[in-house]
Amino acid sequence: MSAPVGILGGTFDPIHFGHLRLAQEVADELRLSVVRFVPSGTPPHRAEPGASAVHRLAMVRLAVAGNPLFMVDEREAGKTGPGYTVDTLTALRAEVGPAQPLVLLLGADAFLDLATWSRWHQLFELAHIAVAYRPGFPVDTWQSRMPQPLAAEYNTRLMRQPFAVHVAPAGGIVVVSIAALDISATLIRETTRSGGNARYLLPDSIYQYIQEHGLYTGN
Ligand code: ATP
Repeated sequence: MSAPVGILGGTFDPIHFGHLRLAQEVADELRLSVVRFVPSGTPPHRAEPGASAVHRLAMVRLAVAGNPLFMVDEREAGKTGPGYTVDTLTALRAEVGPAQPLVLLLGADAFLDLATWSRWHQLFELAHIAVAYRPGFPVDTWQSRMPQPLAAEYNTRLMRQPFAVHVAPAGGIVVVSIAALDISATLIRETTRSGGNARYLLPDSIYQYIQEHGLYTGN
């Protein structure tokens, strides 16, 4: 059994420093062997994204290039219908075998939304969940913002010792404190759309890609 494998799913519309710090800091804190970035195809929880799956995937490829801890997992990006995290984790679990620890990385906003996800209880049979702080979602409000079924899972599964993700393949929740970056893809799309400059919210290579392809300029 090798060190836990991290999975960071997202629309990545576009990928930005909030995503990259989340992946880096959780990987460092939990000593993950790799973080697999999984860009969505057509996401089930929101309207059509601003950029096509082809562009979003290309930007994730650019962003992870050069970091040996990061890789792109293209299994959802190629799908035209909705892709569900539970299906992605089931496929990955089949590939890595029953003993390999898997860790699903989520920002606090995504975690608080978890009970709306398809077959969300099954996620705990497939992976651990690492929740990272995100500005706007202070920890002392989490309990009151969690629906009761999620609070029940949180209270029974919370592991105080982050390294516990190494000793079981799935089923725990760990909370990781990361640098608070109040950056969202929405902010980048809106800044670009209104003629502002999104530079330094995301890697220069992604900023240049957006310029070259004229992304996020429409209404
Ligand atoms: P949008 O603004 O379009 O909703 P987003 O910036 O929230 O997008 P997603 O692709 O939806 O990005 O997020 C993927 C994952 O990354 C989610 O788990 C989300 O909580 C997390 N995440 C995104 N930005 C941050 C951030 N600044 N800090 C911590 N986690 C983040």
